[in-house]
Amino acid sequence: MNWDVTPGAVALFFTTGLSLFLAGIVWGRNVREAGGLFAAVMLAVAEWCFVAGLEATAVPLASKLVWSKLEYVGNGATAALFLLFASRWSGRVAWLQDRRRWLTFLLPAAGIALAATNERHHLIWTSFTPGSAGSNIVIYGHGLGYFLVVGAIYAYIVSACILLALPPARPLPRPRHEARTILIAAAFPLSAGILYSIGIDPVPGLNLVPISFFFTTVVFLIGMGFFRVFDLIPAARDALVEEMPDAVLIVDEGGRIVDANPTAALWLGGAGPLAGRPAIEVFAPWPDLLSALSRGRAARVEVTLRDAPLLYVDARIAPVREPAHGRTGFFLVLNDITKRHESETTLQRANARLAGQLEQIVALQAELRDQAIRDPITGLFNRRYLDEALPRELARAAHERGTLSVAMIDIDHFKETNDRYGHREGDRLLALLGSLLRDRTRPGDASCRYGGEEFLVVLPGTSSASAVQRMDEIRQESVARCRAAGFADPPTLSIGVATFPEHAESDAALLRAADAALYRAKGEGRNRVCVAAARSG
Ligand code: GH3
Ligand code: MG
Ligand code: MG
Repeated sequence: MNWDVTPGAVALFFTTGLSLFLAGIVWGRNVREAGGLFAAVMLAVAEWCFVAGLEATAVPLASKLVWSKLEYVGNGATAALFLLFASRWSGRVAWLQDRRRWLTFLLPAAGIALAATNERHHLIWTSFTPGSAGSNIVIYGHGLGYFLVVGAIYAYIVSACILLALPPARPLPRPRHEARTILIAAAFPLSAGILYSIGIDPVPGLNLVPISFFFTTVVFLIGMGFFRVFDLIPAARDALVEEMPDAVLIVDEGGRIVDANPTAALWLGGAGPLAGRPAIEVFAPWPDLLSALSRGRAARVEVTLRDAPLLYVDARIAPVREPAHGRTGFFLVLNDITKRHESETTLQRANARLAGQLEQIVALQAELRDQAIRDPITGLFNRRYLDEALPRELARAAHERGTLSVAMIDIDHFKETNDRYGHREGDRLLALLGSLLRDRTRPGDASCRYGGEEFLVVLPGTSSASAVQRMDEIRQESVARCRAAGFADPPTLSIGVATFPEHAESDAALLRAADAALYRAKGEGRNRVCVAAARSG
């Protein structure tokens, strides 16, 4: 073999080693992040430096040419991977992060193809001139193809540098010194390349670009050692966001989604990636969410993302201000609260059902109570109610030192009415009398059906005289009403009145006194009101 290991070649092999070392460190630290791509860039650099070293070492022109051709693999891959890295690092240019990113490799691949087939067209290399005597350097004459390929590579690298120099559009704050370190590191091969391309070379024919990577790697090593460039924390934070069961999204100040984790893509995605799409379009199916976003403030809203199966989320929106621009983007976190929501809804339904049932029970109870104390034919209170109400009213009258009258009413010869009009009509007459008593008594009074055709009216605060007067009015009106209701020959009423404390003290004695007065009214010829006899002694 014919080798000549020059100092330049040694420098290149050393740089190869450094690049591999760097790739290894970054890969180990930061695979999930842009760091994975960075490691790939350093691998491409290593390949480039290695074959450049072999080119510098080889003596025959044919060998040198093989290695030179292989340099196109390294330089093309370096440029393309660096652009992908910059896009991923900055969170900008969404298509460079999706399935279309392989398009980036088309131009470098064309460069490799041109270099490989140079003998046929000489578009890359036009001439090969030996360098100064004893230098083992070949000066390559360059053709149009070379300048096109190198132009493309530089276009890639300059674009990547612009992405790195812009403020990152990523959710996770990138340390500014990280970008600065990368840009300083990139400056070496960039300027070396420009010098080589325009023909300013300190050692004629020696391509300084691969050698300049020595400085690139040194800058990175210093950056990682002292400034925590490519530190693990942002990577770990990114991994956290990526794997969170919550959906996390970043909307930039222009209303475009710049980042979304896999959960967000799953819940909101539909087809294709979320990044790069306008928020207004992505959130269109959920107007509540959209309007909360458009308010431009921190907000919290619960939204049904999907009906079947139900996906109910608690969405928190936090504005993110970029101090440099004073503009506002948004940070969105959607937390799946379907289970909680479902149990709440079930509980609410159960509560509503119970409340409804309770209402029904209360109504039924009231109805039942009403039925228990009412007489169905007349609609008046029944005797059971009287047994309860009379002692109570008496106690109150005694307490207030007031009066209370009771009036016992009996329909005269009702048997005959039944015989004449029939039992059913007799019932109708009883009902008529019931409504008359209801109409002619005051709210505090209580009218009861006492027995078959007997009624008892309790009149609290009413003296004997006024009870007699009111009963007499009822007696007269009853006949008129019955006539109006179709009873041509209506029965009359006999009424006995007794008053507390005038005639009796207890409820039983009062009823007895009223009954006696009624009995007297019957005896005196019926159709009249009689008052109980004054107590003797
Ligand atoms: P008096 O003037 O002496 O009170 O004569 P009376 O016929 O009214 O008295 P009696 O006690 O002999 O008869 C009461 C009648 O009332 C007997 C019964 O036919 C009638 N009666 C009792 N309850 C009802 C009822 O619910 N409906 C009807 N239609 N009649 C009833
Ligand atoms: Mg009777
Ligand atoms: Mg009677």
